[in-house]
Amino acid sequence: MVEASKFWFEKACGSSECKSLIHPWTDRCCDATTSMLWHCIRGSYKFYAMVYLIQILMRGKKLGKKEIMEQFRLYLKSGIFGLTVGSSFVTLNCIFRKLFFSEFSYYTTVLLPCTVSGLAVYFEPPHRRVLVVNLFVNLVFEYWLRTLEMKGWLRRSPGRETLIFMLGSAIFFYCMRRDRENEKRTPLFWFFTPPKVSKVTGEPMTGFKGKSPACPHREPCLNYVLKGTAQLFGVGCAMTMLRTIIPKILTPTKALKSLKFSHLRLGIFFGGYIGIYRLVNCLLCRAHGKDSSLYALPAGFLAGAAFRASPSTPIALAPVTSTLQILGSWAYQKGMIPEGLPLVELLYCLCQGILFHARVMHEDVCPRYIINLMHTVTSNKADEIQAAFIQKILKAMP
Ligand SMILES: [Zn+2]
Ligand SMILES: [Zn+2]
Repeated sequence: MVEASKFWFEKACGSSECKSLIHPWTDRCCDATTSMLWHCIRGSYKFYAMVYLIQILMRGKKLGKKEIMEQFRLYLKSGIFGLTVGSSFVTLNCIFRKLFFSEFSYYTTVLLPCTVSGLAVYFEPPHRRVLVVNLFVNLVFEYWLRTLEMKGWLRRSPGRETLIFMLGSAIFFYCMRRDRENEKRTPLFWFFTPPKVSKVTGEPMTGFKGKSPACPHREPCLNYVLKGTAQLFGVGCAMTMLRTIIPKILTPTKALKSLKFSHLRLGIFFGGYIGIYRLVNCLLCRAHGKDSSLYALPAGFLAGAAFRASPSTPIALAPVTSTLQILGSWAYQKGMIPEGLPLVELLYCLCQGILFHARVMHEDVCPRYIINLMHTVTSNKADEIQAAFIQKILKAMP
């Protein structure tokens, strides 16, 4: 793949008109806007249908009628967010080119309009904004990591990523347990939320029957550990099934035949993650006769080893990002960040600009998720536009 460096991009594309660079499929800016809008309406609602389905699955609870309506309302709003961001790229470029800049430059072509269109995040309710920012910050970290790797400054490997995930999980679970003591809890999207630290104390005990009075759950420890493991194992497998079967929905028998043992990996990771965490926490509660948020450190660290069953760079970094999110929300509560500052929204705009810029200019190191996201939301238009950029650059290169 071709890297669009600042020099080559500006040499090849700088003096282009918007119709030849941004919307090569039509000469008129108005037509380009409407066709983008149409593609993005379809793409955005398709994309969010999948997102909401997975979120509902991850909750592992049945939804009531009222909750279904609420989810549907949120789905409609998320769709508006997606289609605004997707469709405004072309229009903003046409406007910026005509009003402010006489040339397309490396920073003002993608980075600037995509940072501005990030403001559409206001269509999402505040608690969802936090989750979206978490995801995007995580993707920026992934992008930086990939860039460093490409420059030869570090090397990624499943073993190293597992270690990062284990260390991250230890600190993150500790922060989550501390966060549960606060009245205002930080909205987090994680495999599971550890329970509040139990105040009850009792005698230390041996064996593995029943439960310790200090355990932060009601049922016998063994049930508690196994139930969590089975549940998350199921969720992991269901997610893999969806991913494998949905693209082949028209040929379900073929899809089912293509299921392999490797499809259990995600289930083993999810199930193992919660299972080991609960097991270690229960063992410590039983041994000491009291519960403590500090147990999250060894429990989270060991649970993180389950990540080895299904390693991936974005997930490896996720506990670190979420820890930063909790720390940020504590800083807010303590008044260290001024209340009027829309930090979440600004951060989102910045991340979106950086990532979409990476998608167009540095495809090789752009996180896979962003490439898929832009492809789906714009119904392939993003790839068309990017391909036109690269074509121009290739032509200009000697
Ligand atoms: Zn135009
Ligand atoms: Zn227990």
